[in-house]
Amino acid sequence: MKTPLITGIHHITAMASDPQKNLDFYAGLLGLRLVKKTVNFDAPDVYHLYYGDETGLPGSILTFFPFGASPYRGRQGNGQAATTSFSIPMSALDYWMQRFERYGIAYKQPQARFDEAVIYFEDPDGLGLELIANNIDTRQPFTYGHIPAEYAIRGFWGTELWEKTYERTEGLLTQQMDYQFVGESGVRRRYAPQGAAQVGKFVDILWDSVQHHGVGGIGTVHHIAFDTPSDESQLEVRETLLSAGLMPTHVLDRQYFHSIYFHEPGGVLFEVATTPPGFTRDEAVADLGTALKLPIWQEPKRASIEAGLQPISLEKALAHYPQ
Ligand code: ZN
Repeated sequence: MKTPLITGIHHITAMASDPQKNLDFYAGLLGLRLVKKTVNFDAPDVYHLYYGDETGLPGSILTFFPFGASPYRGRQGNGQAATTSFSIPMSALDYWMQRFERYGIAYKQPQARFDEAVIYFEDPDGLGLELIANNIDTRQPFTYGHIPAEYAIRGFWGTELWEKTYERTEGLLTQQMDYQFVGESGVRRRYAPQGAAQVGKFVDILWDSVQHHGVGGIGTVHHIAFDTPSDESQLEVRETLLSAGLMPTHVLDRQYFHSIYFHEPGGVLFEVATTPPGFTRDEAVADLGTALKLPIWQEPKRASIEAGLQPISLEKALAHYPQ
């Protein structure tokens, strides 16, 4: 077998409203690490917040553009990545249900899915999320200390694409993107990267189960980024996609990775992002997420950019959920 060019999920990017509420929920309630505080490079009056594990490894990174009080609300539907799922140990299931009850977070009682137990809930903007309790994830958890490490989130479990039909997206995943079909349950078809480590990298297609097309906006996922090991492998993926008739963009510099974007046949925006250079390129591991980081071309405008952003506080977020 040739070396895979795509090795899993790199990050998932979604849209939110209030940045402090977003930080409260993801760092405070869920205990994800804020690994980078930067701005939307195309619109620097909006933050770009990155959450993940201790160093922001691919497979743990959920990012948000929090637009503030905006009427630009989305609706989950076909042609979108909908529910984002996180991995927790099976022994943490009761802990999380008690935590949600303590803080008044609505959730659905655990459901069985394949070999796992699934709890569905939503963030303050209505973004669909799940905790997937399992016995196979050996990744190290991150904790700020307010959530015991034994119960903490391990990173993503995977993502769920909502599609009218699955065949063409499955063809892309399995023929051009080094994924393989690993199982189905009703209208859910699951794919995982070829090779050993699959936890955190699952892509489920949920097909023909909703009738409406999604509308992008606050409370929806904007795109899914897949992980590729290097700039060279990214160019190879780009060539493969071009030969399959897809229309990837040129390589864009996202500071912490390099990216190409394209729409898959069902309409979901896919990105392929390089593992390097990663989030420690401009901050030490201990300092990740503490300072507002700007790309070099925006540094001259730092004062006006900072003045245009609503201040946010990690301390406040953690204080909302003290235990
Ligand atoms: Zn992205």
